Amino acid sequence: MKMGLCSFCLKSGILCQKCLAKVKSGEVSETDLRVARLLLSLEEKFPSLQNVYFHKTVETDGTLAIVVGPGDVPRLLGYGGKIIKTLGEETGKNIRVFENGADNRKFLEDLFAPLNILTINTIWLPDGSTETRVIVGRKRGGRSSLNVKALKDIASKVRNITLRVEFAD
Ligand SMILES: [Zn+2]
Repeated sequence: MKMGLCSFCLKSGILCQKCLAKVKSGEVSETDLRVARLLLSLEEKFPSLQNVYFHKTVETDGTLAIVVGPGDVPRLLGYGGKIIKTLGEETGKNIRVFENGADNRKFLEDLFAPLNILTINTIWLPDGSTETRVIVGRKRGGRSSLNVKALKDIASKVRNITLRVEFAD
């Protein structure tokens, strides 16, 4: 696992001046550190993690979003979901993984998975701001397990977009 901190610092737990400055400035949060160490400790068991670039975590109510490098999402979701399960158990949160730098559609598809997105469009509000309207296809039992408020929160914090979610009939 690679990230903005030196791997030596991560492994030893004692941060050099440079890494310490990133933590103090908030560029790297305490949760980032915690998740980074967790990922590092899982590398031996799940070697594909060695190639994952960890950007940051974004926390919302009950959900922890992990932002990784392009192409890294499958590396975290592999092994039958065991990495995600372990992270969920260790943090007590529902884990979601996103790709850094992905376009909005890809981000939203990951956000709403396993539901299908039928339409995405931008709504311009009178004050000049925008909302992203997403129409999601229904899936049996899917909606009840979907926490729309949490998803909106993630979209706002990870991508800085305001979501309007509608369900197709
Ligand atoms: Zn360092």
